[in-house]
Amino acid sequence: MKQYDYLIVGAGLFGAVFAERARQAGKRVLVIDRRPQVAGNVYTEKIEGIHVHRYGAHIFHTNDSRVWNYVGQFANFNRFTNSPVANYHGELYSLPFNMYTFNKMWGVVTPQEAQEEIRRQRREAGITDPKNLEEQAISLVGTDIYEKLIRGYTEKQWGRPCDQLPAFIIRRLPVRYTFDNNYFNALYQGIPVGGYTRMVENMLRGVEVRLGVDYLEHKEELNGLAAAIVYTGAIDEFFGYRLGNLEYRSVRFETEVLDRENFQGNAAVNYTDRETPWTRIIEHKWFEFGRDEDGNPLPKTVISREYSAEWKPGDEPYYPVNDEKNSSLYKEYRELAKNEPKVIFGGRLGEYRYYDMDQVIGAALELAEQQLCR
Ligand code: FAD
Repeated sequence: MKQYDYLIVGAGLFGAVFAERARQAGKRVLVIDRRPQVAGNVYTEKIEGIHVHRYGAHIFHTNDSRVWNYVGQFANFNRFTNSPVANYHGELYSLPFNMYTFNKMWGVVTPQEAQEEIRRQRREAGITDPKNLEEQAISLVGTDIYEKLIRGYTEKQWGRPCDQLPAFIIRRLPVRYTFDNNYFNALYQGIPVGGYTRMVENMLRGVEVRLGVDYLEHKEELNGLAAAIVYTGAIDEFFGYRLGNLEYRSVRFETEVLDRENFQGNAAVNYTDRETPWTRIIEHKWFEFGRDEDGNPLPKTVISREYSAEWKPGDEPYYPVNDEKNSSLYKEYRELAKNEPKVIFGGRLGEYRYYDMDQVIGAALELAEQQLCR
């Protein structure tokens, strides 16, 4: 008889949700994480009374009422709505592209005028069969929006000129002929009051958690403790990279405390010109309307400049590169995983896929149903 039914590697959302479900089902669970804190990449830390999103800004949004009701047990969500602003050489535009954007860009007032302008620019460009991202963008939204709002940002994100990027990256672009700045089309949206870390701590209440423990360094000993393992680390790392590295796109953050109340008046400002080296600036306090939990205004502010970066082995993995090469390498690792009947691979790193938070929670709930209701 093993000491635990499940050893869960990783205290991110996938691991925490599975652990919570397993504990509720009466299973004996141990969660470990190599980091000194829980919450994985949704970790928020308090600086000057502000919840700072250390691994990148996280906005919870979902259409899945099961997931929304589930997370609601562990946090109250505020009414934050993501409405980013684009800064092109000091000209500010609303995102996603909508009537406010078109009015600022061309002075048009009605949806019909905006549609006509976009149609005119598309016609003028004369692109019938887009061969790269630049042509695809122009054929979808015309030249002005491409030049001012898409080109620089995309080139910084991918580290390559738009005419050398494949067209499929932007099959569609969100264009709204309404005055609606809400970036997400989700039914539910918000930020957990008190931060994501507290929400995850609430999920893990009553669960044994050991931090600063690397599974791969103590594999034999830890395997001996549990009947099954839920592993949410990187699948290639699990197998000692024996088939090669799965690649990621990385982000570098430069975080600064400023001795002023308001830096940019919005949580997210995208820098869409080519010259500014960062892609975005996040001002974390605006995720919570600039106030602490008692409703007091916060005197200082914390900003993070985001730089898109090439990833090299050893860097923090952020966005999986789902091209042919990496997808087929991942498939080979999946084959190896079949020889590990005790181990369930889950989460963004275990499955090498980009998961939004609601999707990763949904996937962990599904796994829990399969595993625990047998
Ligand atoms: P993680 O959070 O990465 O957790 C995995 C954990 O496993 C980590 O804590 C790690 O330390 C631990 N671990 C790994 N290997 C080992 C080991 N060998 N031993 C012990 N522990 C180990 N989603 C949204 O819905 N909205 C957003 O606005 C949003 N913004 C994002 C911004 C960025 C920059 C990125 C990259 C993602 C964003 N996401 C967003 C997605 C979100 O971050 C993920 O859905 C979520 O973090 C995935 O959780 P996870 O548990 O799978 O992985």
